[in-house]
Amino acid sequence: MAKKDSLKKTENDKLLEDKEADRIIELLKDKIIIFGENLVKDYDIGEYIVRAVDNVSLKIKEGEFVVIKGPSGAGKTTLLNLLAGLDSPNKGIIYGHGIKISDMGEESLATFRLINSGFIFQNYNLISTLTAEENVIFILKTAGVPFKEARKRAVNLLGKVGLDERREHLPFQLSAGEQQRVAIARALANDPPVIFGDEITANLDKKTSKFIRNLFKDLKDLRKTIILATHDDKLIDLADRIITFDDGKITEEEIPGINN
Ligand code: ADP
Ligand code: MG
Repeated sequence: MAKKDSLKKTENDKLLEDKEADRIIELLKDKIIIFGENLVKDYDIGEYIVRAVDNVSLKIKEGEFVVIKGPSGAGKTTLLNLLAGLDSPNKGIIYGHGIKISDMGEESLATFRLINSGFIFQNYNLISTLTAEENVIFILKTAGVPFKEARKRAVNLLGKVGLDERREHLPFQLSAGEQQRVAIARALANDPPVIFGDEITANLDKKTSKFIRNLFKDLKDLRKTIILATHDDKLIDLADRIITFDDGKITEEEIPGINN
């Protein structure tokens, strides 16, 4: 008897479920592709706890190009990692594409990321033992794309980022700019609706930065949702919204062309 009771949904459970369903409907209706509420991320470093993200709430709409800027140590990388599902918050709720990702386990998050987001890291994070082409194929294979198709797409993408001649190179045989372009090809491989980038032009020469800027202009024109942590004026120029982040908090939001 007790067992049966415990399986029954209480009125309270039902109310919570209804509230959750209403919220998801609301997010989808407003085309909010990422929703974070009261996000907190702490790093426990022994004696201290660093609060890298401090009670942050934000909404990002489908097709929006959002730039996050702010001083080093502000918490930009941590925030991006939370929004992309690369890390989980200590407190708060995150919805991505109408799915609550904040309490997902690592395996579900990995699947979520594979379908929904491409991430370009500041330090490229290529697999050092795989060639440029294999790095791109690897992510496609993980998503279940058959090898022949994966290879075709990898060749095509590497061509798009100007690396036709570098496909067989290992990461250490590539310049910083070339490695970053492989990382971009990899982030775009599964054609994700949302692209995250963390200081993607910070370590690059002017020519590569310009190339990447033009690539992001094309992605913007394709109505991709783009979220970049950057100080690069050329990338900031493309933004629909600029968020200033400092000490774990949003300190300013600007819609270019409206506030100035
Ligand atoms: P930003 O990208 O704006 O430079 P981060 O998100 O990298 O900021 O870091 C925010 C704060 O969190 C910093 O004080 C940093 O030292 C700390 N931090 C970041 N990652 C870790 C970590 N893995 N362990 C401990 N502290 C961290
Ligand atoms: Mg950072």
